[in-house]
Amino acid sequence: MSDVADAIKKLHKELPPEVTLVAVSKFHPVQAVMEAYQAGQRVFGESRPQELLSKIQALGESAASTGNQELYSDIRWHFIGHLQTNKLKMVLPYVSMVESVDSLHLLQSIDRWGSENGKVTDILLEYHIASEETKQGFGADQIREILLSDIQYSHVRICGLMGMATFTDNESAIRSDFSRLVALRDALLPQSGNYPNLPDNFGLLSFGMTHDYRIAVSMGADIVRIGTLIFGERSY
Ligand SMILES: *Cc1c(COP(=O)(O)O)cnc(C)c1O
Repeated sequence: MSDVADAIKKLHKELPPEVTLVAVSKFHPVQAVMEAYQAGQRVFGESRPQELLSKIQALGESAASTGNQELYSDIRWHFIGHLQTNKLKMVLPYVSMVESVDSLHLLQSIDRWGSENGKVTDILLEYHIASEETKQGFGADQIREILLSDIQYSHVRICGLMGMATFTDNESAIRSDFSRLVALRDALLPQSGNYPNLPDNFGLLSFGMTHDYRIAVSMGADIVRIGTLIFGERSY
């Protein structure tokens, strides 16, 4: 068995069945996606529009060459990187979720694209929980403002929140970042269904990567996004 297949099988065994594993294939070749797919993985994460498109095209060609058009068609792509509004048409037709909505401008642009193109996009709002300034995301106040606003986004479904902890080995620092994410979601839940942008089924939390996914799962993550552990180190 390949290393990729081995890692996928181990993760599928380890993770609770209700946790969604996003295999983060960014910066790895499409063959890595194929190996993970063969091992049973169906949800993949990409962070750059052009790379996402190239992989989708390569997978389509590979499926066609085997004569089985259905091969790979059940892959669900999550976009997890910073998304520029001039790249929406490269991304939104193909993804099942944008996890990294990090500005009001992006949210409004996805909504407008959706109304023009007849697609409702599932999204997560990215909450800036890390202590590094460089990580993207909203503050808690901005998230509350969006969710409790009367201005309705008819072509996005805000499914929950995404976050990235500070990059550190200090487990208690990671836990404290993650606990802010959990607390914000928990504070919003009782109000869900009462506001147009806070639907009944709001509440998904995406947190946890290679070095902290076990902590994330123990704290109730619904989605974990794992790259390095599955595909190895990335070469930039
Ligand atoms: C790259 C990336 C990941 C995966 O990180 P690993 O440490 O390789 O598991 C997860 N989430 C986001 C937002 C990323 O950009």
